[in-house]
Amino acid sequence: MIEEQIRGRGLDEPRVIEAMRAVPRHRFIPEAYRSHAYEDCAVSLDLGQTVSQPYIVGLMTRLLDVRESDRILEIGTGSGYQTAILARLAQSVFTVERLSVLGQRARETLESLGYDDIHYRIGDGYEGWTEHAPFDGIMVTAAPDKLPDALFRQLKDGGKMVIPIGEELYSVTRSGEEAVKVHHGGVRFVPMVEDGA
Ligand code: SAH
Repeated sequence: MIEEQIRGRGLDEPRVIEAMRAVPRHRFIPEAYRSHAYEDCAVSLDLGQTVSQPYIVGLMTRLLDVRESDRILEIGTGSGYQTAILARLAQSVFTVERLSVLGQRARETLESLGYDDIHYRIGDGYEGWTEHAPFDGIMVTAAPDKLPDALFRQLKDGGKMVIPIGEELYSVTRSGEEAVKVHHGGVRFVPMVEDGA
């Protein structure tokens, strides 16, 4: 997976490669789909959700530029796979999932693998996690239609968010009140659900 799908496509940031090598992807995937864990595609979780293709996880992780001292907010815990990679790179990860079955299962997997600097919340990702804001980086792994303002406001000045908006991937750097957006190509993510809508 690493040689062909990650390095082979030009992702060679050593810390990202090391984190991806260290996290056993199959442990995050339900048994029924586990044989596909290392294939070059997204894999089903339950409840209609998916864990992203390895390359997309690697790309988004590299784009976030995580430093060891960073506190990162993640929206869409899903299986917890991306959470594990972020946890290897950052000081702490705050992860929010709206489906309690998935959030709970991810937590069990991550705890069984010994990750302890992760904070879990079941709730609406559009609200972020105000009590722990501001964050050095925000990773969004479900797709809203536009940049959620509450999340932007929980970024530190100079901080970065990586987010699919519709079917386009962006990195968004906060510069004061301005969102400096860079486009990184087309992607497919499950929608970021608005519970109030
Ligand atoms: N990063 C995950 C993949 C996430 S799939 C992994 O590595 O496995 C997207 C996840 O976002 C799903 O679990 C979905 O339930 C969740 N989600 C969708 N809308 C949300 C919202 N408004 N708030 C929090 N989580 C949300």
